[in-house]
Amino acid sequence: MNDSYRHKGMRKNMLAELAQKGISDPVVLAAMDEVPRHLFLDLAFLEIAYENKAFPIGQGQTISHPYTVAYQTQALQIQKGEKVLEIGTGCGYQTSILAKLGAKVFSIERHRPLYLKTKTLLQKLGIRAKTFYGDGYAGLPSFAPFDKVIVTAAAPYIPEALIEQLKPGGIAVIPVGEGKKQIMNIITKHEDGRLNTVEGEDFSFVPMLQNKE
Ligand code: SAH
Repeated sequence: MNDSYRHKGMRKNMLAELAQKGISDPVVLAAMDEVPRHLFLDLAFLEIAYENKAFPIGQGQTISHPYTVAYQTQALQIQKGEKVLEIGTGCGYQTSILAKLGAKVFSIERHRPLYLKTKTLLQKLGIRAKTFYGDGYAGLPSFAPFDKVIVTAAAPYIPEALIEQLKPGGIAVIPVGEGKKQIMNIITKHEDGRLNTVEGEDFSFVPMLQNKE
């Protein structure tokens, strides 16, 4: 699959829609322009890959809406070289956006088939990110601390391990809630370890599952 002029055009429309919805960081928009979303989806979605929709990616999971990816990425305020822990690799689209921004991404997926498929895809696309098959609730203590943490599944509560693994001065972006809607929690850890939580917009994510397969 390649990146045709038609897809580039569809991507420009997606960017215009994101900007209109309030995504204002030019660096985030540029990264979303550089990563062809259609390459992360099955051929069946080739013509609609840039609509602001979630599509199935296997194992009952879905790729996040472009607006959700843009919103979470913007909230993280990624600087080049930062270590980012991502929970829920899924198809690797969000992972790729973070990598494009110069982050060193460590991403965990709990569905083994998805982990394997995405690991291969990211290698094929030349995206540098470390992917892990494991449980997002535990994070990656052996690679901690992280400058930023992003959870891309609905967390029933804020997993303590993830906050522990966040550096002082770091930001974690976690959708919290068990019902249909989750509230995006944007958590800043101050240098003295205190937490400041800002509640952002509502989103709808697939659940963050408790036990590994
Ligand atoms: N950012 C991804 C979102 C995929 S949906 C994308 O755009 O493709 C959320 C993902 O989180 C799913 O792939 C799901 O399998 C994974 N997930 C759910 N619970 C998890 C857990 N406890 N640990 C790690 N990953 C988990």
